[in-house]
Amino acid sequence: MELHATGQRPHVVVVGAGIVGAAIAFHLAHWGLPVTVVDAGAPGQATTAVSFAWINSRDKNPRHYHDLNRRSLDMWDRFARRLGGDVGLTWGGELRWAATEAGAVEMANRVAVLQGWGYPIRLLSPAELKEREPNLTTGPVTAASFTEIDGHVETARVVAAALAGAEAHGARVLTQTRVTGFRRSPHGDQQRVDGVQTDQGEIPCDAVVLAAGPDTAALAALAGLTVPLKHTFGCTLLTNPLPPLFRSTAVLHTPRDADPMLNIRQLPDGRVMLHGGAHGGIYDEGSLGRTEEEVTAVLAAARRYLPLLADAEIQEVRRGRRPIPEDGLPILGFTQAVANLYLAAMHSGVTLAALVGELAALEIATGRPVDLLAPYRLERFQTT
Ligand SMILES: Cc1cc2nc3c(=O)[nH]c(=O)nc-3n(C[C@H](O)[C@H](O)[C@H](O)COP(=O)(O)OP(=O)(O)OC[C@H]3O[C@@H](n4cnc5c(N)ncnc54)[C@H](O)[C@@H]3O)c2cc1C
Repeated sequence: MELHATGQRPHVVVVGAGIVGAAIAFHLAHWGLPVTVVDAGAPGQATTAVSFAWINSRDKNPRHYHDLNRRSLDMWDRFARRLGGDVGLTWGGELRWAATEAGAVEMANRVAVLQGWGYPIRLLSPAELKEREPNLTTGPVTAASFTEIDGHVETARVVAAALAGAEAHGARVLTQTRVTGFRRSPHGDQQRVDGVQTDQGEIPCDAVVLAAGPDTAALAALAGLTVPLKHTFGCTLLTNPLPPLFRSTAVLHTPRDADPMLNIRQLPDGRVMLHGGAHGGIYDEGSLGRTEEEVTAVLAAARRYLPLLADAEIQEVRRGRRPIPEDGLPILGFTQAVANLYLAAMHSGVTLAALVGELAALEIATGRPVDLLAPYRLERFQTT
């Protein structure tokens, strides 16, 4: 990408003000580039608001993708510090247990792999599990594990802080502005985008970032690109504020070998977030929570594991879509077909926001491809 060929500072339009677009815009503005962020709705109200927001690399494969998430996890403290203020970053590790012998074998195997990759995780005895979190009613325990380094974050606060930081460095944020197309011109044997068309008019640009979450594929199609991205249903539930449920754990996972799987975290203000279902793999059917019956069933199951939830009420049901690239890995970088169009679509966008914001901005600002991101280019899907 020769954005800097003219010596001018390129104007970058970032489409999407979720956690990914906001993080990229924050760093681009700090590179001194003129930035316009465009969102069809309000910032952070889409997938990012629904997210369970567990920062981790616990179940990420293959190794390079595990390392990418691990690196981002390790960057979160610095990112939060740069954002300033309190973004609700909460550390304390992830705790889970297995209920069957098969589940115990699977857990032991995964823990061994993760330890070999340098992830601080250990197996716990049932007594250690009980000691760590005395408020749990576990049922049968065949194995348990604890990671030291996992955490979670308040995504709404991250988006607000990132956009405020971008604006303080000159960025413009246009909300309620829907992108409807791209004005393109030939660029050698490639194309380039010269203007982003919106329902409020056209915005001239030198580069465009598509960070539109599950809508990234539809937008990319308007620029002539095929992006293999699907989405699954996602849902999280929020209770009223409650006294602390956990002694120190940030994220609790009930057995992966018993239905329903529950993912539970407590926010700094005491509200408890419940997520029923698995964590966004390629073959997932999505979260529980499509119907009120499913919402009630998730709360009832959570109460069985955590009797302190007996009087909890569900105050908010958040429903949305999770963006899932066809092979489960992020789609990141400038594209060969449209030279100045940068894609940023991924699951685990909360974990990855710290790294992706920094490295995507670096690639856009300098035009230099970061080798760490080489496995995630769109062109990997081309078989010919
Ligand atoms: C239930 C659930 C649980 C999850 N759990 C985790 C987890 O524990 N850890 C983790 O790391 N990740 C998790 N994720 C995934 C993570 O939340 C997402 O990867 C991340 O939020 C994606 O952010 P984004 O900014 O790419 O997309 P979004 O937040 O969807 O933002 C995209 C923005 O683009 C805008 N947009 C779309 N079309 C247009 C258009 N035409 N014009 C202008 N703007 C447009 C939208 O309005 C939206 O604001 C979870 C997701 C879900 C749903």
